Amino acid sequence: MAREQTEKEILAIGRRMWRQGYVAANDGNISVRLADGSFLVTPSGVSKGRMRPGTLLRVDSNGGLLAGKGTVTSELGMHLMVYRQRPDVRAVMHAHPPYATTLAAAELPLDKEILPELVIFLGQVPLAPYATPSTPEVAASIQPFLADHDAILLSHHGVLTYGSTLEDAYAKLERVEACAQIYYNLLLLDRVRVLPPEAVDKLKSLRAGLKK
Ligand SMILES: [Zn+2]
Repeated sequence: MAREQTEKEILAIGRRMWRQGYVAANDGNISVRLADGSFLVTPSGVSKGRMRPGTLLRVDSNGGLLAGKGTVTSELGMHLMVYRQRPDVRAVMHAHPPYATTLAAAELPLDKEILPELVIFLGQVPLAPYATPSTPEVAASIQPFLADHDAILLSHHGVLTYGSTLEDAYAKLERVEACAQIYYNLLLLDRVRVLPPEAVDKLKSLRAGLKK
């Protein structure tokens, strides 16, 4: 039952990602850690906007296929790296939303304190160095950032977010993209202004309170 509910939630999140324009064609992937330590993941070669019941695969912690038909997403190694390093994480997602991916392709981290919600809900979003998609390089590239961050830009590739629930990970994805769009506009205006240090300190203590 719980697994069926989780499957429904993943399909719904996939449709939201696709409708928002975060994933073109078959881009992106979503995974959830189940209570028994296995994972439900999206297969490769499937639009995240058109997944049906039965589309998802179940894999073990080494990426071995336990149930389902299809090819495991080539980015599974990146997801499993997150779960290994962050026992608190239950859901991981990866997408290519246009503004955040623009920053990633420009090799710009989203690390300026331009908006309160960015500081409170995301902190800094670092830029992981470029790694060839679908190779073990990707998992290695994000590893140094996992302990201290909940969202990562992948250089010349896209965005990775994770959280305690699917909704939490998805909210971070939306927030990264919304903040990236504002940051992009500020860069166009050539007028990036950050909040004063006292204001940032207050927001950081609000963030620390959320994490408890
Ligand atoms: Zn990708």
